[in-house]
Amino acid sequence: MSGWDKWYTNAMKLIFLGPPGAGKGTLAAKAVDSLKVPHISTGNIFRAAITAQSVLGRRVKAIIDSGKLVDDETTIALVRDRLARDDAQRGYILDGFPRTIAQAEALAGFSPVDRVVNFDLSDAAVLERLGGRRTCRNCGANFHVLFGRPKQEGICDSCGGELYIRNDDREEAVAKRLEVYREQTAPLIGYYREKGLLVDVDAGPASDTVLGNFRKSLGIAG
Ligand code: AMP
Repeated sequence: MSGWDKWYTNAMKLIFLGPPGAGKGTLAAKAVDSLKVPHISTGNIFRAAITAQSVLGRRVKAIIDSGKLVDDETTIALVRDRLARDDAQRGYILDGFPRTIAQAEALAGFSPVDRVVNFDLSDAAVLERLGGRRTCRNCGANFHVLFGRPKQEGICDSCGGELYIRNDDREEAVAKRLEVYREQTAPLIGYYREKGLLVDVDAGPASDTVLGNFRKSLGIAG
């Protein structure tokens, strides 16, 4: 198979589902290397808008800092626009969207997906991971004070950007995000399972193991 055929065969429209801290962002960033599709993270888009102090950024900052969800209408419009772009026609990994049944139903109307990967992680592991998470201000890559330390303290391995603690990784916000996940997002697991689209992957092991299991369960060449 030529390189191009491999990319083409691998191209898929995927949703990465799972609680905060399951590693969706890190896994998506690695998976897009072989899939050659864009990694679309609504959280990253919102954080970039906050950094740029755009109208959207100013409107969503307090909501995101508190760990609540941005309203469906705003989020759906943002994703609909992003998926209309040329680079998303062949496939994509959606990371952090949909997060509600209303968002899932809207997505089915404008871009039905091929598969939904459910990265499963216990609440205890979520709390442990988010407690030590450090994020790059520039590219959004994640590190951890215990597992996955950067080579140089406070500096991103990928782009040299500054590492910081996201406001919503602070204790009160993490508890809120987990509650919001269980109440509003976890019902999507049953929703997509019923449609025959769900693939379960244990997000507990180290990210390269999880990535290997993800590839195997979707039959993706590495
Ligand atoms: P994430 O980086 O995916 O953890 O997202 C960070 C924050 O952005 C979330 O806690 C929400 O406040 C907001 N956000 C991201 N994606 C969505 C979405 N699909 N619907 C509503 N809010 C979202």
